[in-house]
Amino acid sequence: MTNSAIAQNLINGEWLGAADTQRMNPARPGKLAVVSPSSSAETLDQAISAAVDAQVGWAEMPMPARGAILITAGNLLFERKRAIAEDLVREEGKTIAEALGEVGRAIDVLRFFGSLGWAPTGEVLPSGTPDTTIYTRREPLGVVGLITPWNFPIAIPAWKTAPALISGNSVVLKPAELTPMSATHLARALADAGLPAGVLNIVHGKGRIVGDALARDNRVAGLSFTGSTAVGLGLHQILSERRARVQLELGGKNGVLVLDDADPRKAAKVVAAGGFGLTGQACTATSRVYYTPGIRQAFLDALAEEAGNFAPGDGLEHDTKMGVVVSDNQFAQNQAAVNGAIGRGATRLVGRHDENGLRFSPTVLTDIAHDDAAVREEIFGPVVAALEVADYEAGLAAINDSRYGLTAGICTDSLATSTDFARRAQAGVIKVNRPTSGLDLNVPFGGVKDSSTNTFREQGRTALDFFTWGKTVYTGI
Ligand code: NAD
Repeated sequence: MTNSAIAQNLINGEWLGAADTQRMNPARPGKLAVVSPSSSAETLDQAISAAVDAQVGWAEMPMPARGAILITAGNLLFERKRAIAEDLVREEGKTIAEALGEVGRAIDVLRFFGSLGWAPTGEVLPSGTPDTTIYTRREPLGVVGLITPWNFPIAIPAWKTAPALISGNSVVLKPAELTPMSATHLARALADAGLPAGVLNIVHGKGRIVGDALARDNRVAGLSFTGSTAVGLGLHQILSERRARVQLELGGKNGVLVLDDADPRKAAKVVAAGGFGLTGQACTATSRVYYTPGIRQAFLDALAEEAGNFAPGDGLEHDTKMGVVVSDNQFAQNQAAVNGAIGRGATRLVGRHDENGLRFSPTVLTDIAHDDAAVREEIFGPVVAALEVADYEAGLAAINDSRYGLTAGICTDSLATSTDFARRAQAGVIKVNRPTSGLDLNVPFGGVKDSSTNTFREQGRTALDFFTWGKTVYTGI
């Protein structure tokens, strides 16, 4: 183990906290990946105090100067990219190619929001009164709390932290317990880039201790959370009761509709990339696919063949195509979901599981009922339920028959049908002939129903809305 695999808290510019909690490498039984502090609510209190003290000075720094710090941090991550990606693989289990892509995303996010330091922040409006100028301003919320999951352990902290900082907020970040190191690298790059003490604080520890206290603290003006629906809905209640701003990005059960006029091989590639890429551990992963009768055989044959390209293994080995499952718990959850469906009559078209090193092969379930738990509930593994529907209308209805609405896809050659689908599918992101997972950094991202608060979107310029409030100014002479 190298020194870089010790994650500490960052509070008021100082690296603190006894690294007392071990995280083992999910691909290599018995190998330590990282140690981190299991912090108390008192430690969190110190971090919030530091954020309060630092916020006004930070907001008063000219916005281009704030942006320059973000860009410098992006450049530092760029220099450290390979080492950070390797730490990410050791703690999360994805492939090194996926990890390099994710660190690349964090770099681009810092550069993108840094460049917004020079962008307009309001507008000038005409006035009905002579000699009067009206303009709008965006003001920071103050101190914001960020709580992040393990599945994109550096990209999600980056795409919340960067818009929060460029807007003039100070931040307290609580990363996932399973992946403390990746977010620590982000904080380290920002600190090394010259971010003033207290502007970004990072506190590791348990969600129900540190995360809960962060949500309840009245000095925290807003909380942006990405994680499970169950935890998110609980936080929503806490934040709503104290009338603080809250943004939730939660689970998904993303479906793809494959129509007779699609190319079966291309459709299979789209579904396999969305379902098995990132070990299926993406909120935008494809976990349901519906096909019309005419394409059934050709599509399922092609999907089974594609699944063979995603053999699971240690993400640090060069030829590994799919990483391991993040934890024993998640592995057991995947297994229980698949075995439960088979017990209720489903057929496993492909898939096998090896607990040693948490290798869970891509799994396709057929002969499965529309109301089966494996079709309705998020599994968060490389498991796709494949179901037949009579026609386009039945497929659209099946896609929409879900408590979730994050992403939805369609594979078709018809522009008219895909345009209709884009209008009527109930999801925040629609993909035509493209995998449900994977978005550019400049596009609004979020869902409807139980997938999101469906108020403020993340990513791109839209992300600034959550972290600011609007003011209208009249100036007369
Ligand atoms: P999780 O809800 O268990 O944990 C997420 C974060 O919340 C962690 O930092 C955790 O420590 C913290 N937490 C847990 N209990 C808490 C509590 N009581 N109070 C405050 N904080 C608490 O989720 P996870 O297992 O880390 O991530 C997987 C989930 O995240 C999946 O459901 C996935 O769909 C979702 N996700 C959603 C998106 C999106 O953008 N919609 C993106 C990635 C992941």
